[in-house]
Amino acid sequence: MDFDLVAQTFEQMEQTSSRLALTDLLVSLFKKTPPEIIDKVTYLIQGKLYPDYEGIELGLAEKMAIRAIAASSGENMSTIEQVYRKTGDIGDTAGEIMKSKGQSTLFTEPMTVERVYSTLDKIAKTAGPGSQEAKLRLVSSLLHDATARQSRYIMKFVMGKLRLGIADYTVLDALALAFTGSRANRQALETAYNVSGDLGTVAKIVATSGLEEVQTVGITLFRPIRPMLAERVSTPAEALERMEGKAAVEYKLDGERIQVHKGQDRVEIFSRRLEKITGHYPDVVEAVRSINTKEAILEGEVVAVNLETGEYLPFQELMHRRRKHGVEDAMKNYPVVMNFFDVLYVDGSSKTSLPYTERRKALKALLAGKQDDRIRLVEQIVASEAGQIDRFMAKAIEDGCEGVMVKQLSSTYRAGAREFAWIKIKREYRSELADTLDLVIVGGLYGRGRRVGKYGALLLAAYDPENEIFRSVCKVGTGFTDVHLEQFYQSLEEHRISHRHARVDTGMEMDVWFEPKIVIEVIASEITLSPSHTAAKDSIRQGYGLALRFPKFTGKIRDDKDPEDATSVQEIASMYKRQLKTIGKQDSDDRQVK
Ligand code: ATP
Repeated sequence: MDFDLVAQTFEQMEQTSSRLALTDLLVSLFKKTPPEIIDKVTYLIQGKLYPDYEGIELGLAEKMAIRAIAASSGENMSTIEQVYRKTGDIGDTAGEIMKSKGQSTLFTEPMTVERVYSTLDKIAKTAGPGSQEAKLRLVSSLLHDATARQSRYIMKFVMGKLRLGIADYTVLDALALAFTGSRANRQALETAYNVSGDLGTVAKIVATSGLEEVQTVGITLFRPIRPMLAERVSTPAEALERMEGKAAVEYKLDGERIQVHKGQDRVEIFSRRLEKITGHYPDVVEAVRSINTKEAILEGEVVAVNLETGEYLPFQELMHRRRKHGVEDAMKNYPVVMNFFDVLYVDGSSKTSLPYTERRKALKALLAGKQDDRIRLVEQIVASEAGQIDRFMAKAIEDGCEGVMVKQLSSTYRAGAREFAWIKIKREYRSELADTLDLVIVGGLYGRGRRVGKYGALLLAAYDPENEIFRSVCKVGTGFTDVHLEQFYQSLEEHRISHRHARVDTGMEMDVWFEPKIVIEVIASEITLSPSHTAAKDSIRQGYGLALRFPKFTGKIRDDKDPEDATSVQEIASMYKRQLKTIGKQDSDDRQVK
């Protein structure tokens, strides 16, 4: 398959922000793709070579990339560096240089998708001493035969900068349309994706064997399942209203959600984003080996703990575990405990279709025989009255938790779904919104005074999944320490772009723009109508969006979240409506008191 078909589609995708148009472009690309390589094309669209759980990176240094462009274009390094300083993107630099060179069309070897993929694959798998030079040769060999457009996308990909921002749901829609003729079949594809965590494989199955085969996709050990998610409410009474008279209530721990896959001689750990993070928690791996079963997939929250006092510590402490080297030291200095709250698979059989009560029983039985104190079963009660939940929540907060999770007793494990079968209630921040928001940084204003040379404020956006657009909701400048400011300045540098990103919608003017990538957590005092921010625009009042009042960075950088996992505009709209209700209630309470 001609790689130019892919590059052309990418180019068109970058220029549109309409979800329908994106889907059409994908459908037409999928239809032109030979079924044998549709998995590869799907991964390329996602900007990867394999599903995330494989944990494979291309790992080419920036300097090497510039050298590769020099080697294949014959241009000198300083000219290339100059263009790079201007564009801020290696792919765009490659495209511009190749264009200015007006490369000949007498290529020695045709640029097929197969060739691009297998070369990228070799780059990813080249490791050890001298590997940078070897990677450089491989990239140069591709660029040598590539057009300007092809070079642009090859280099974006190599640098991990190919971010078309296509949500998985759009790819699923396009696959359903291309291979079954109807968008309605997306559900079946989505179910297969939810349990396999692998869009490429789902694409290949539907393209080669059809929808029926897709329906047979089940859980496989060492392939992460997409996590079940929770809706939110503000009070125990509201949560109970959504349940069937009674519900399970569990501690909501403030750590990192992980999925643990235990085989006979192997344990792997996956993050909420389905990345393999086994290396962060060798102590959890060790502890899990003591569970007496051949195979199991368990889910839980790993939490930092003070071993002397037994106190749970905030989420930030786990940051120390995210490193390639020195994990041994981090393990000693920042010990963790593992709190399991679900079981999805045991010895060859899936548990996801069992109701919560049965899964909890199975989980309890599994952990009954464990030998290791670092493994715990999450604290739980079954409650039928709001007062019970209130008391349990107070105890949870005293014990260092963020709040509670209320779970429907009859619910199966709904992989990938966010529904009211699980409801989170977080501790109230006095006179502040009951919940924090996870927002994406999309722009910045330069700082003044003490903040000269840093950013004074960042523009944050919520995600609009229906249109796949990030819509602004506030500027935030408080809550940052000097360390944060420095850290943000550096980490944002690689996401800096010259214009507002095509998928960002805002009425604000900014000094700099960023591609939507970094997710941070904020709290705020309330939500207000806004003429300049565009989150949930027109949904409450014509011509107005919603904005956060007095937003403050909590100190949490949510690098466990993709930008598409940010708080959605719908969630903000419903928080606004809830806020109106409580204010209304407070007003009438006040009146009664008077
Ligand atoms: P979400 O995961 O819902 O997108 P989030 O990552 O911002 O949102 P929260 O809003 O804090 O997280 O709440 C959900 C998270 O709470 C879960 O993903 C999980 O990491 C954590 N959690 C803690 N305790 C539990 C529990 N007992 N059951 C399920 N999840 C729990």
